Amino acid sequence: MERQEQQKASRLVFVLYPSQGHINPMLQLATILHSKGFSITIIHPKFNSPNSSNYPEFTFIPISDNLPESQDSFGDILGIVSALNKNCERPLTECIQQMLKAEDPQDRLSCIVYDSVMHFSQSVADHLKLPGISVRTGPAATMFAFAVCPRLDEQESMSLDGKSDLLSLLLKELAFSMKKFTAHGLLEFRAAVTDSVQRCSALIFNTVDFIEQEALTKVQELFSASAFTIGPFHKLAPTISSSLLKEDSHCISWLNKQAPKSVIYVSFGSIASIDEKELLETAWGLANCEQPFLWVVRPGLVRGSNCLELLPINFQDSVGERGCIVEWAPQKEVLANDAAGGFWSHCGWNSTLESICEGIPMLCRPFFGDQNVNRRYVCDVWNVGLELEEFERGKIEKAIKTLMVDTEGEEMRKKATHLKEKVGLSLKEGGSCYNSLNDLAEKILSFRP
Ligand code: UDP
Repeated sequence: MERQEQQKASRLVFVLYPSQGHINPMLQLATILHSKGFSITIIHPKFNSPNSSNYPEFTFIPISDNLPESQDSFGDILGIVSALNKNCERPLTECIQQMLKAEDPQDRLSCIVYDSVMHFSQSVADHLKLPGISVRTGPAATMFAFAVCPRLDEQESMSLDGKSDLLSLLLKELAFSMKKFTAHGLLEFRAAVTDSVQRCSALIFNTVDFIEQEALTKVQELFSASAFTIGPFHKLAPTISSSLLKEDSHCISWLNKQAPKSVIYVSFGSIASIDEKELLETAWGLANCEQPFLWVVRPGLVRGSNCLELLPINFQDSVGERGCIVEWAPQKEVLANDAAGGFWSHCGWNSTLESICEGIPMLCRPFFGDQNVNRRYVCDVWNVGLELEEFERGKIEKAIKTLMVDTEGEEMRKKATHLKEKVGLSLKEGGSCYNSLNDLAEKILSFRP
């Protein structure tokens, strides 16, 4: 069969983990592989269902997740992860069994491509004798950390012999930030992810070789499956929105009126929350910094509240046209706008990649998990950002000024531009990501010829 025909005859089943920072890269990856000729079925828990109408060429199948309806979605992340891994195993198995029964030789199921957080998918793949591909939507460093540190919370007693300074630093970051989760659930989760990766047929990373070289080398030493670094996925997939909240695009017309590189964009992603005092300190820090700002104040940013009501009544008056507040922004478009000059971020991996791909320096305020690792990459490894230590108006004002107008910030902007160019080259024909994507397509075609 000709290559192109064979790809058309190959269907990939994607299994999503239902949070914004995971749905986005998984749908981007599906779009990339679809553009390579593969057919796509997206299987997702009912909770936080993606909007299928934006992807008319994919087949979407919701499966039962048995999560309680009224839950506060991200109050207990590990609890949700654990419940999904238990509750979805049977529905996923049954769903794929049905697909296999109805299989047409012109549309064969090639493999299961799953978010590494949904580690049970590898057991389903093994049971059905299908290859499984694990996708790490976060940095490769975390995959390495999970494997070598069964108990990151006991980091002090763990030997870091033989590990480089950078990696031991990253491991410590992860250990520190994970302390708030219960040790037992975390231990189980890390072991389960590592176990599934040990059995998978390939690994895909949303990263570029040169930005995470050390971690990727370690991953390849630890796991026998080939690793493909084809990302940043969002640069390879056309901009199709997979937002769970409605994007408010009026901020783009506001941005279009601002001077080049003058706007500080502020967003803490889809999960992180702050308290009322931190919201007010942020508001006054932004009011006092004298820079134009675009601030995403999503519902629930202060848990249990519609945060806009918490802003001081005189706030909008005191900032006037200099400030634009939205509940959810078209973030990639915002960062690509000429007016964007800095990103105050929680350092989620997607936000980090989206920022460096546009050459935007960052003000980092990580909250938990890999965000601390990402902060370390941004501030100490790539040198394209600085850290905000505290939600305090004076510190916020000073940090924004350093990033946006001081020579220190100017240096970071230059490095960020350089980083953007290097990432761009890796995506071009002959670049490492370009080659890796072609290798991945070949690998998938070899699974069920
Ligand atoms: N995002 C967006 N609009 C917003 C805020 C965030 O579209 O107002 C997107 C952002 O572009 C990114 C994702 O939501 O793709 C957040 O993922 P990330 O890994 O940065 O953080 P998480 O939400 O998982 O903490």
